[in-house]
Amino acid sequence: MPDTGLSDSAADIAQKLLDWYDQYGRELPWRLHPRSRAPSQRPDPYQVWLSEVMLQQTTVVVVAGRFETFVRLWPTVHDLAAAADESVMAAWAGLGYYARARNLLKCARRIVDDHDGVFPQCPAELETLPGIGPYTAAAIASIAFNQPSAAADGNIERVLARLFAIETPLPKAKTQLRQLAGDLCPQQRSGDWLQGLMDLGSLICRPRNPKCDDCPLAQNCIARQESIQETLPRRSPQHRRRTARGILYVGRRQDGAWLLEYRPPGGLYGGMLGWPGWGWAENAQQHQPPCQGNWQRVGDISHMLTHMDLHLEIHTAHLPIDAVPKAGQFIPSGQFRVDALPSLMRKAHALVIARQSG
Ligand code: SF4
Repeated sequence: MPDTGLSDSAADIAQKLLDWYDQYGRELPWRLHPRSRAPSQRPDPYQVWLSEVMLQQTTVVVVAGRFETFVRLWPTVHDLAAAADESVMAAWAGLGYYARARNLLKCARRIVDDHDGVFPQCPAELETLPGIGPYTAAAIASIAFNQPSAAADGNIERVLARLFAIETPLPKAKTQLRQLAGDLCPQQRSGDWLQGLMDLGSLICRPRNPKCDDCPLAQNCIARQESIQETLPRRSPQHRRRTARGILYVGRRQDGAWLLEYRPPGGLYGGMLGWPGWGWAENAQQHQPPCQGNWQRVGDISHMLTHMDLHLEIHTAHLPIDAVPKAGQFIPSGQFRVDALPSLMRKAHALVIARQSG
């Protein structure tokens, strides 16, 4: 590890970050911010766990509304553990990565059956539960139980890689960055410190155009001193984001039924319902429409996944009543629920509706 001067600067960094968080930290539905909590009040571990699982791979904006729905439907871990699988999966629709919803249920039932409904406080014990990896375990321990821990997700890795000018590429640098997170985490207010770091990564130390002039850690930041902040964190060539192009065919029959298909299990959007005919890696030009018809390109959409950017042409057609699909099946309009589709598919649907009504 390079000489980071950590022992001298850790307390200084922690204090600056906590002061900034007290003033500028976000108020979020699952959060008890210092501005709005009584001195002895602690966050509900159930809500911390639920929010952290939802936030894996999904943005704060998307999670916010859905979190409130979950808490309204299932206010406690006991309520969630007793819920029907189908209702939880339906409430999860649109958040993506459905394995997380299945693990959410398994975890709630384990907490109730094996832990009397009480969340363990220790990261190692939390990690034994379904759907809880090292980062989520450390985040729950820190936020819910104020335990100093070494939590570092992508946002936090970026801040730390810049703060200490770590030039080792990801994912090799992960262990070092996690170690730094643990070394920097203060004994007091570790939950606020971690949430401050999360907010700093989202609001200030953004992937592109970091707002260094507004950063409370600007004086401590080595990357800024060396003007290399925009180049960090580095990534191994095989871990750079890739771009994929393809086509989505949004077809509707004369009686209003939509042509949809279930994605093959495994792979992207595995097992989920969506529009047919899209190629992630294949040459988009070779795609055939899923059904004969007067298909027309109505526009393009872009969609960012964690490891790739998708650029998709959207084609649409009004299909005859006797259309025979080569892929997918017609879903009658009365059974079609756009909010049950992944957000990528909803984007395509919205574009087609906008073009038709425009
Ligand atoms: Fe990030 Fe800039 Fe702050 Fe450094 S000074 S931590 S690069 S926002």
